[in-house]
Amino acid sequence: MDDQYNNLTPFSNAAFNLYEQALNASVDGIVITDNQQPDNPIIYCNEAFMRLTGYTYEEIIGHNCRFLQGPEREQPVREIIRNGLQNNQHVSVEIRNYKKDGTPFWNQLSVSPVTDEQGRVTHFIGIQNDITRRKEAEGALQDEKEHLEDRVEERTRDLQESEIYLSSIVETIRESLLVLDPDMRVLSVNEHFKKFFEIEEDKIIGKVLFDFESSWNISELKNLLLNVLPANNPFEGFEMTYSFQGIGKKTLLLNARQIMHKSKYQDRILLAIEDITDMRRMEQRKEDFITIASHEMKTPLTSIKGHLQVLQLKAKRNQDDAYQEPLSAAVRSANRLDGLVNDLLEVARLQSGDIAFHYTKFDFDELVNEAVTVIQSATQTHHISIEGQTGQTVEADFSRLEQVLINLLSNAIKYSPQASQISVKLHSDSENVTVSITDYGMGISKEEQELIFDRFYRADNLHYAFQGMGIGLYICKQIIDEHQGRLWVESEKDKGAIFSFTIPIRQQAK
Ligand code: ADP
Repeated sequence: MDDQYNNLTPFSNAAFNLYEQALNASVDGIVITDNQQPDNPIIYCNEAFMRLTGYTYEEIIGHNCRFLQGPEREQPVREIIRNGLQNNQHVSVEIRNYKKDGTPFWNQLSVSPVTDEQGRVTHFIGIQNDITRRKEAEGALQDEKEHLEDRVEERTRDLQESEIYLSSIVETIRESLLVLDPDMRVLSVNEHFKKFFEIEEDKIIGKVLFDFESSWNISELKNLLLNVLPANNPFEGFEMTYSFQGIGKKTLLLNARQIMHKSKYQDRILLAIEDITDMRRMEQRKEDFITIASHEMKTPLTSIKGHLQVLQLKAKRNQDDAYQEPLSAAVRSANRLDGLVNDLLEVARLQSGDIAFHYTKFDFDELVNEAVTVIQSATQTHHISIEGQTGQTVEADFSRLEQVLINLLSNAIKYSPQASQISVKLHSDSENVTVSITDYGMGISKEEQELIFDRFYRADNLHYAFQGMGIGLYICKQIIDEHQGRLWVESEKDKGAIFSFTIPIRQQAK
């Protein structure tokens, strides 16, 4: 250490210089006030204090520290400082102060009293620190925290609302809903389920669905349900008719899918059950009515046809010209009616599986030629051409396939009134024969293509323009299905249609 500092006494000039240098080297702003002078003026400040506040030494010395408070004279912390000073205590506060240029800053202020031998406070030493940055960071953190809390609150509210929303849907829905775990244990059921099956919740929750009541223990349903989760294999439209305890025989339609929620609920199955008992009963009644009505019509119709034929013969023999034309019209109408009744009876028989197919071996091309000849002789508006040949002998029901061809050819003519061409294409490979019938008529929209093979379906715009009941294609499809074949249509609205079917040359044992 330098010699001049070796024998320092506390109040020597050298010591004073040293202390002052030390104070000036400090990064904290330091002031000393003289409590023995009026209004406790500042008698010393270091350089850091001048840097901190922007005031010059002359502007600081001789003034009370309150100038630092700028326009904010009423900050509550002032009270803490005042109390501390009055009670000669050390005070440490954070107070907002102002620089000379008016910029506010946060000051971390510590004030300590200095006492003489009698214990009187002679001076105060104030140490200050600009903590604005820290305060801002704290403020931002606080804001963020509050914002986060608001967001969490909002999200919780949203979740609660959507839970209420969802559960009100689940509870009002007129379908029974069940949630199953991977072991097929029932986790929850909705109100409709409880009402419909007349079951209290605690009787079913936690039970394995298949053990719950024997009606649920159906192997096909079991297989379907056990496949839902491992292979993410939902199923729709599984129909079952069983007798349930308390509610009797019901026909139910079941859909099941994995709950697709990216959460802990992912390994759950939602099973929706629709009661279609009444719908099926109504359908059955409608079918019964059609069958009975057609049966009942068949006998008087046969009798009408018989009598008309006798009258026609008599009129011819008597050369009774006035009656011949009306009688022919009556015979045509009776035949048409007979055709419709036969179609209805056919549908009923197909439905009940009450139809016999007679398989024989015959030349497929000959069958097509024969059907085309029949239809060609009955039309003056269209020309039917045949392209290609199969050269195959098939094993099939000749008259049923002829029925299909006649139906498709009749439709092709009926639904292309502005056109004059129908083309029939034949094709075969080593296993199948295929026939396609192309017309250039009104075509069928994509949506309707899915429906036209259903019973009684007719395109919306056709109802009154063309005669028909919408069962021809249904019958055709049943016949082709029976032959283990496929019937389909390719078409665009207003661009004609191609109806094709393919059947195997040899029938597989069924
Ligand atoms: P129907 O002709 O008695 O209405 P079908 O079952 O034979 O009954 O046909 C069902 C429906 O399919 C028809 O009503 C018609 O809308 C449509 N359809 C069938 N064939 C054709 C065709 N070649 N072109 C356009 N639409 C057709």
